[in-house]
Amino acid sequence: CGIVGYVGARPAVPVLVEGLHRLEYRGYDSAGVAVPRRGRIAVTKVAGRVRDLRDRLDLPGAATTGIGHTRWATHGEPNDRNAHPHLDASGRVAVVHNGIIENAEQLRARLSADGVALASDTDTEALAHLIAASLGDGPLEDAVRTALRHVEGTYGLVVLDRTRPDELVVARNGSPIVLGVGEGEMFVASDVAALVHHTQRVVFLDDGEVATVKAGEYRTSTLDATTTTRTPTTVDLES
Ligand code: GLU
Repeated sequence: CGIVGYVGARPAVPVLVEGLHRLEYRGYDSAGVAVPRRGRIAVTKVAGRVRDLRDRLDLPGAATTGIGHTRWATHGEPNDRNAHPHLDASGRVAVVHNGIIENAEQLRARLSADGVALASDTDTEALAHLIAASLGDGPLEDAVRTALRHVEGTYGLVVLDRTRPDELVVARNGSPIVLGVGEGEMFVASDVAALVHHTQRVVFLDDGEVATVKAGEYRTSTLDATTTTRTPTTVDLES
């Protein structure tokens, strides 16, 4: 339902929680955040309100990168386990996702047959395992592209890799993703409402687009790895 992401110099968690608050008007049943912490990814997620999430978090953390989500359940009941972010089995990759993976049942069955222990009932979790399984020595966005070849359905998603705590990878197909370009910091969201109070310089991703986002830069490309050139447009604060 709602996505936020941050890469910059500020503590990420307060930025994420504030962004999630600004997306509450869209409705949701659960909320969560993930940040890199001491070589791992720390996830806090709850069924309930963003304020319940905030009460559960040990603020302020030192992490300056992170992802957050408000969930509107489509696959799996609203509970703590099914809330996003979702991790792969090794805890290396965390994913937040808006949309519906149509072939989730097949993907989950194949993962189970391969011996992957599924930790939730969601369609989204399959994405985390697929991306982790596709990781090689190359860029994270290559693994995301490879994984998405197996996926049918709609997604706006953000991926965090514990070995690359300074970047996020986002992808969009049928569910909006917008990048917010700040001064030495970048924001990601499913809705400009989550980021316009930080920056009015934005890039709306197109369907079939992928982006790697770092503190002072971003690069965009298509799902088949053709580079795209996207210059920010300016939105006004009222939008
Ligand atoms: N299909 C996903 C789930 O049920 C994401 C739902 C959403 O867009 O919030 O977990």
